[in-house]
Amino acid sequence: MNTYVAICTVCGRRQAFFFRPYSGEKLCRTCFTRSIEEKVRATIARYQMLKFDDRIAMAVSGGKDSVSLLHVLAKMERKYPKVSLVAVTVDEGIKGYRDEALKIAAENCKKLGITQHIVSFKKLYGFTLDEIVKSQKKKGKSGLTPCAYCGVLRRKALNTAAKKVKADKLATAHTLDDEIQTILLNIFHGDVTRIAREKPITDEAHPKLVQKIKPFCEIPEKETALYAYVKKIKFQNTPCPYASEALRNDIRVMLNHMEERHAGIKFTIFKSIEKIRPALEETVKNERLRECNECGEPSAEKICRTCQMLKQLS
Ligand code: SF4
Ligand SMILES: [Zn+2]
Ligand SMILES: [Zn+2]
Repeated sequence: MNTYVAICTVCGRRQAFFFRPYSGEKLCRTCFTRSIEEKVRATIARYQMLKFDDRIAMAVSGGKDSVSLLHVLAKMERKYPKVSLVAVTVDEGIKGYRDEALKIAAENCKKLGITQHIVSFKKLYGFTLDEIVKSQKKKGKSGLTPCAYCGVLRRKALNTAAKKVKADKLATAHTLDDEIQTILLNIFHGDVTRIAREKPITDEAHPKLVQKIKPFCEIPEKETALYAYVKKIKFQNTPCPYASEALRNDIRVMLNHMEERHAGIKFTIFKSIEKIRPALEETVKNERLRECNECGEPSAEKICRTCQMLKQLS
């Protein structure tokens, strides 16, 4: 963030507080927050993420990205009376971390008058993430990281919650940074299916799968944090005790370094994959989802990843 005195290049009146290197704009607080809201609106329109009467389940964890998006969507919802917004929160069961986030998420929902629906790993699967980590340690198993369990179990929990609140769309607050980190991770792992399918709006791949939308996919992470800060939105700042995705962190550092030297490179990567994706989609178009033999939920294999994990845990 640059703090030198300059006049906002958008309104030409107020004092700028932020320089956006990739666009050359110097922005005042009002024009900055407006630009984020307008960008989100443009992203939603470009990818046709919403219909005028959609019911949106917004995944709110309590972190800066999700609470910021909740505020942006709540503001938009007021202009579209037929759209309804409900928050869904997953309690993974991480002591000393998720409890605080849950409180912050609930406070934000209350402030905005949004109903919040909470699902927990314990209720859905019988274990908290803490219990899973402890039991794996006890068994001397070190194959999967806590994040690997958390990611798979949370994805299903969010879909379950979205269905429960009868949502048409599940909105997540993945930012531009999250998106391109994931793309690079998937390239490193050679995961063609994921690159093809993890789009700003997912396909209607199965009736039991709520379509996911990512309205923040064109907003850099730094700007979602700044939005929360300018709007005085309360969010959880402490990192998860299990946050250890070493490779993702290395990719984040590399991309931030590249962005400093080549402003706009993150957008370039995002746009490049948009160009490449149609060719990848061709190669996976015959991979149909079936229903898991155990839980009946959509799955690429006979038994879904969640059920495979839970079997191995019990
Ligand atoms: S850092 Fe890992 S364990 Fe913690 S909430 Fe995120 S995915 Fe779950
Ligand atoms: Zn301005
Ligand atoms: Zn299953």
